[in-house]
Amino acid sequence: MSDRVEDLARAFERFPGIGPRQARRFVYHLLSLPLTERTRISDLVSRLAENVRQCPECYRYANGNGPVCNYCSDASRDDSILLIVEKDQDLLALERAGTYKGRYFVLGGVLTLSGKGTIREKELLRAVEKRKNVLKEIILALSATSEGEITTDHLKEKLLPYRDHITLSVLGRGLATGSELEYSDAETLSGALQNRKET
Ligand SMILES: [Zn+2]
Repeated sequence: MSDRVEDLARAFERFPGIGPRQARRFVYHLLSLPLTERTRISDLVSRLAENVRQCPECYRYANGNGPVCNYCSDASRDDSILLIVEKDQDLLALERAGTYKGRYFVLGGVLTLSGKGTIREKELLRAVEKRKNVLKEIILALSATSEGEITTDHLKEKLLPYRDHITLSVLGRGLATGSELEYSDAETLSGALQNRKET
């Protein structure tokens, strides 16, 4: 018979940023809960994808049944600015800051120091090409890490053909070196956005 504690711990270990000890802490926490609560959590997990899907425009995961997510369908948002983030959590941090009212694109990762890694480069270039007549600015809002900078440089090169009429900018670095957007507070993010500079 399989060891259920070990099996679940191994599943948690595959989560981002979770080590073996934390994984086991989760399992024993779940064991300590009443069955009703465990069932509720298991139900939330198994039904997660029923109501959440990836938006075909910005690639963020969002609730809803429309063809695109509520940010992409919101006519009051500014079509002339596109902000590129690494992941959904960065986008949510910027939304919480509340100052940005343009469009988004979720890149889905950053490149590694050796230039490898999977990012939605083709999808991004397609999105830019499609909107090239309305776009005035693209903000590369990647994390202030070496990987974030390498990715920014790579995208700058790829977006070169559009630079005659689209401004490329990066966030002003009120953000500490090595910091990720996800963990920055609203005030810091608003400042970094206001102080963005052409690149
Ligand atoms: Zn969207």
